[in-house]
Amino acid sequence: MLSAITGLHHVTAIASDPQRNLDFYTDVLGLRFVKRTVNFDDPGTYHFYFGDDAGSPGTILTFFPWPHAVRGHAGAGEVTKTAFSVPATSLEFWRERLTGQGILVEQTAKRFEEQVLTFPDPDGMKIEIVAHADSGEINAPRFASVPPEHAIRGFFGVTLLEHGEKETAAILNVLGLKKTGEEGNRLRFAADGHELGNHIDLLIDPAAKYGRSGAGSVHHIAFRAKDDAAQKEWRTEIAKHLSVTPVLDRTYFHSIYFREPGGVLFELATDPPGFTLDEPIGSLGEELRIPPWLEAQRSLIERKLVPITLHKSLPPIELQTEIGKTI
Ligand code: ZN
Repeated sequence: MLSAITGLHHVTAIASDPQRNLDFYTDVLGLRFVKRTVNFDDPGTYHFYFGDDAGSPGTILTFFPWPHAVRGHAGAGEVTKTAFSVPATSLEFWRERLTGQGILVEQTAKRFEEQVLTFPDPDGMKIEIVAHADSGEINAPRFASVPPEHAIRGFFGVTLLEHGEKETAAILNVLGLKKTGEEGNRLRFAADGHELGNHIDLLIDPAAKYGRSGAGSVHHIAFRAKDDAAQKEWRTEIAKHLSVTPVLDRTYFHSIYFREPGGVLFELATDPPGFTLDEPIGSLGEELRIPPWLEAQRSLIERKLVPITLHKSLPPIELQTEIGKTI
């Protein structure tokens, strides 16, 4: 019996200016910068990881910021929207916060049961905030200026633009996601349970043009495997339908990759070992971490990377709680 895939593990996208990317996701969206590392396949480029306070699976948005990347545009066979989950009562907070920063926010009519805000990040990547009655527990980032009650919980899900439904739906079914709704040309698939990132929407448009990958494009999405053993079993299962890579060591998780028939690159990443593998939770993201096999090249890598500054806008939440208790 295969252990269930409960939802997304992470979403990886391309950005341009590293500092602007860092500032937007920490200062504006209030995510925690959980890892400052490099692209293992291109170590002269950063790999940034944002998430909840610990970078828990289901909350992790990662970027390859290439300072001179040309902006992409979304098209068929791509992830066109990445959605975060917030409590139903937090939508107004987010609309005000984002518009107050000069961000153009669209509020769409109710989609299925939820209200949705859509806005671009600094590279034009389309982000959504979904007000969700069942938004889940929060492990609020300790340095964020967003009050914990309104903090982004993690992913709600993603939208894939596809020419057709059939083959992509079939592979989602293989992964255990089932169709739970249909609204116009939007089909919703969901994993059982209520874990973060358990919604995958397919937007079907047979006439959609192909996009161009670049800054603001999602590179791939990763689903969660409970551990290495579960991933191995899933690899055998997926290989019956699609070609799939060997297991790759991504330090903070182990990964296999396969491209779904509509064109989106999927990954299956293990929950362990996680981001506290090589630095304490209190100082996640503060220093450049690189895997042991690249340590010999550290000074060369550091010279190639654009310097960045991590702003920590507030004292740690623990400290505030302490003060609250004393009063
Ligand atoms: Zn990945």
